[in-house]
Amino acid sequence: MRPEVLAAMAPVFTENFGNASSIHWFGQQAKSMIDDARQHVARLINADVSEIVFLSGGTEADNFAIRGIAESQKARGRHIITSRIEHHAVLHTCKDLEKQGYEVTWIPVSRDGVVDPEDVRRAIRPDTILISIMHANNEIGTIQPIAEIGKIAEEADVYFHSDGVQSTGKIPVDVRALKVDLFSMSAHKIHGPKGVGALFIRKGTILKPQMTGGGHERNRRSGTENVAGIVGFGEAARLARAGLPTEMPRVATLRDRMESGLKAAIEMIHINGENSARLPNTTNIMVDYAEGEGMVISLDLKGVAVSTGSACSSGSMEPSHVLTAIGKTPDEAHGSLRFSLSTMNTEEDVDYVVGILPGIVERLRELSPHYKRA
Ligand code: PLP
Repeated sequence: MRPEVLAAMAPVFTENFGNASSIHWFGQQAKSMIDDARQHVARLINADVSEIVFLSGGTEADNFAIRGIAESQKARGRHIITSRIEHHAVLHTCKDLEKQGYEVTWIPVSRDGVVDPEDVRRAIRPDTILISIMHANNEIGTIQPIAEIGKIAEEADVYFHSDGVQSTGKIPVDVRALKVDLFSMSAHKIHGPKGVGALFIRKGTILKPQMTGGGHERNRRSGTENVAGIVGFGEAARLARAGLPTEMPRVATLRDRMESGLKAAIEMIHINGENSARLPNTTNIMVDYAEGEGMVISLDLKGVAVSTGSACSSGSMEPSHVLTAIGKTPDEAHGSLRFSLSTMNTEEDVDYVVGILPGIVERLRELSPHYKRA
């Protein structure tokens, strides 16, 4: 978290710990802090304050958007369109709906990780109730043509959700220009606290609440508000908006410096999604003949925290669905590294990576029988 975020949150744990739903002054003080935060989040994406619902994070925002539309629209149809590179919060939610009798069309992406809006147009049917396509991908950072898809959705009169967890605060977002009805956000991606996020719900959108109870958040999401988290999110959103014109280009320069440094120092590496519009802070690097987990562990020992293109779950190495969707083989996916930079990174940080990764790759390649044969 940014220090300013922590400073904004601290009083909520000490002096201003009122319940925002209480009528007394103490509660109203908390409510007013939430109102301020809502304004900052709304401004970041050009929404109205009445269109922002706070909840527990990006996962809940995606679930609420997709399940909320699926349930409210089921009399109209049961067909949903999404892409093959969505975050698991969307992917697994759609798979769950498939089990419940909904039909899902999984739109492929190009080798550069981008959805073709014409594929979305062709997939629309009379019973289509929702299109859900992420704004920017979390593994390779590719930015999707959301405004074009939004136009198609609007013409077809189909609800349009976009997972904006990765794009919010990193690139300019205008929900009006993007023509989205629903847009997911998460505080911890912009130096806010974990466990808090928001869903933009365009005025007039009919969505079945997924959390019922005391009717908080204008009856959209019940549960006593996470005042500290929301206040932290608001401050993070304010800072992100202020930094968009200056900080993000600087992060992109760092990312480019790291990519070109690594390309010069290591042979046979490729940047996944390189030819597409990408987030300024994300780079996904595929290293031939070097094993991903080995690189992650070696970098970790030297103080660099990155992730790889495979998730070691239940003992099996599952290649990333995003990397396989852009045409990578399981082996290639296993040799991919994702670096996420931020406004807190410096030139020294990226130069450090450029300095240590070649040696790590060299050692791992020596262990690879395939490399020797290449
Ligand atoms: N969607 C995307 C694209 C993400 O990158 C993430 C988190 O990594 C999420 C959703 C889930 O957000 P949260 O961690 O707030 O539940």
